[in-house]
Amino acid sequence: MAVKQTAGIEQLGGFAPKFAELNDDVLFGEVWSREDKLSLRDRSLVTVVALMSQGLTDSSFRYHLETAKKNGISREEIAEILTHAAFYAGWPKSWAAFRMAKEVWGDEPADAETEKERFAASMIFPIGEPNDAFAKYFIGKSYLAPLTNSGLPVHNVTFEPGCRNNWHIHHADEGGGQTLICVAGHGWYQEEGKPAQALEPGDVVNIPAGVKHWHGARKDSWFAHLAIAVPGVNASNEWLEPLTDEEYDKLGE
Ligand code: MN
Repeated sequence: MAVKQTAGIEQLGGFAPKFAELNDDVLFGEVWSREDKLSLRDRSLVTVVALMSQGLTDSSFRYHLETAKKNGISREEIAEILTHAAFYAGWPKSWAAFRMAKEVWGDEPADAETEKERFAASMIFPIGEPNDAFAKYFIGKSYLAPLTNSGLPVHNVTFEPGCRNNWHIHHADEGGGQTLICVAGHGWYQEEGKPAQALEPGDVVNIPAGVKHWHGARKDSWFAHLAIAVPGVNASNEWLEPLTDEEYDKLGE
């Protein structure tokens, strides 16, 4: 089926009728319309890369990005196309193209499963399995990966954005407490009566026994820390009430 294009006649019909005709009837009416030779999707891909490589990120480029989206190029595919082309066409041209592509495809994040896989791939430790056994003590979804159970048990705990554990206390008559080693993403640690502390990869938190606290992810970021239970006499955990949404939402403002 022929692609119908009227931009030429509308914008240049009076000034340059031949150019308008070539644009609408030949470029679009004949070349773009040869769908049996190359799909519209592939033609869009070629066109976007050809325009980007010249640094032509003007209104016609926006039109071709919108057409590419219409022709079935996904958000992830355009990101991959522009990343690949950047090495051949030039880094700043790709930057300029990305700014426009972000507007056309929207900046909504990929689905939760894809985000989880991406975060898992960014970590040197495994993400493990859904932390079902402790889910009742968490707001939001967390994952647990036992790294070692011989000698000193170490677990990697991953929190999805917005996930955090309830207020709790690591009790012990002697010794005890918990050490957190942050491995990826951005999170929070808070002791009762103190301001929350932002956590970044590499941060280490020593939580003494008997101190009421919570830990978890930032609202807009995944977060993972290793959790090490410091050996103690008569060690036990006491799980308390959740941190309220109101208190959590105030963080980072
Ligand atoms: Mn703790």
